[in-house]
Amino acid sequence: MHMNFTMNIPGLKGVTILKVEQVEETMRVYVEMERSLQQCPDCGAPTSRVHDYRIQKVKHLKWFERKTDLFYKRRRYVCACGKRFSEQNPFVQRYQRTSIEWNQAVGIRAIKGKTFKETGETYGSSSSTIVRRFDRLARSEIRSVEKLPSVIAIDEYKGDTREGKYQLIIADGITKKPLDILPNRYKNTIKHYLQKYGDQVQVVIMDMSHSFKSAVQSALGRPVIVADRFHFCRYVYWALDGVRRRVQKEFHPYDRKKCKRMKHVFYKASDRLTEEDRWHLHRYLDMSEELKKAYELKETYRGWFVQAKESGSEDIGKVKQGLRDFYRRVQDSGIPEMEKAITTLQNWQTEILNSFVYGYSNGFLEGINNSTKVLKRNAYGFRNFSRFRAKILLTHQFKGIGIHIG
Ligand SMILES: [Zn+2]
Repeated sequence: MHMNFTMNIPGLKGVTILKVEQVEETMRVYVEMERSLQQCPDCGAPTSRVHDYRIQKVKHLKWFERKTDLFYKRRRYVCACGKRFSEQNPFVQRYQRTSIEWNQAVGIRAIKGKTFKETGETYGSSSSTIVRRFDRLARSEIRSVEKLPSVIAIDEYKGDTREGKYQLIIADGITKKPLDILPNRYKNTIKHYLQKYGDQVQVVIMDMSHSFKSAVQSALGRPVIVADRFHFCRYVYWALDGVRRRVQKEFHPYDRKKCKRMKHVFYKASDRLTEEDRWHLHRYLDMSEELKKAYELKETYRGWFVQAKESGSEDIGKVKQGLRDFYRRVQDSGIPEMEKAITTLQNWQTEILNSFVYGYSNGFLEGINNSTKVLKRNAYGFRNFSRFRAKILLTHQFKGIGIHIG
């Protein structure tokens, strides 16, 4: 079919389409630029004399779900001075086999897509091509840290790269943007990093790890350390879970299995329980006095936590008193799992109270962690630490950018 028309196809604006044909499953689009008056790059004189044409085959975005190749009839002009030169065009750079539009789409997809393999399949290319493009983008797009901001958050996650099982993520505590990822969580790694970039750091939000704390203190002197809420709350919930597991061993097998399956009803906030949840909760609480007591302690803790979040910054004395009341109740209960939990809370009390005074939380890092887990399950190509780091940092950098093209 001969067409000879111009159409505003994405990435082919102002380009003349000579012919479109389908060869097996591939679309072939024959294109050229309009002949026009040129300026010689050497002498500056005008010319529109054609020297010759070369056909350049260029991979373009899929069209109607089919692979698409452009057959570009590239024109060369010749000047009176003897200079020969190629015309300009908006869709492919010199010596490239893929169009500009294709390169952009693949770049974004390599960052946002699940695996390099999948991206390769989507764009009709091999995994290794995608990996190379990704690495190139990573080199040009990742801005390296020069100075950490005044509030930072650190958290570990299990990335399982060749450089270590656990990696450390460092984020801006206010904007919540991930800033860097360290290859492991060893004390010296953190310490050296903070010594190098942490001059301005005043507040560090973290989970309750002694080695993080001592690394932070030895690198930065005495910054304000804030315990992350998600992490310290977990101790109380873990304790309740421990009691449930211990107690249900004594239940009839049917109830033991059922209690295990319904365990979420113990953690849910009591005012969010459904009728059915409530029925199961009471059934099991009625079967064990100790479980009931542990549950009540969790609810007391939750009440304290909600209150502390609301008014902690105004009256930290009250928050502190509430925490002490909670400790006393736990001690009165004599439940070992709960006693162990409050030992940890007591050790980190200053940092816990700081979280209400300053109102900072790491919660967002859990979100990063979750997307990292997805990444790990599709781990092709990410055992390499620097690629893994690039993937996480770039994913966040490109958050608002869509992949609707292609
Ligand atoms: Zn010339």
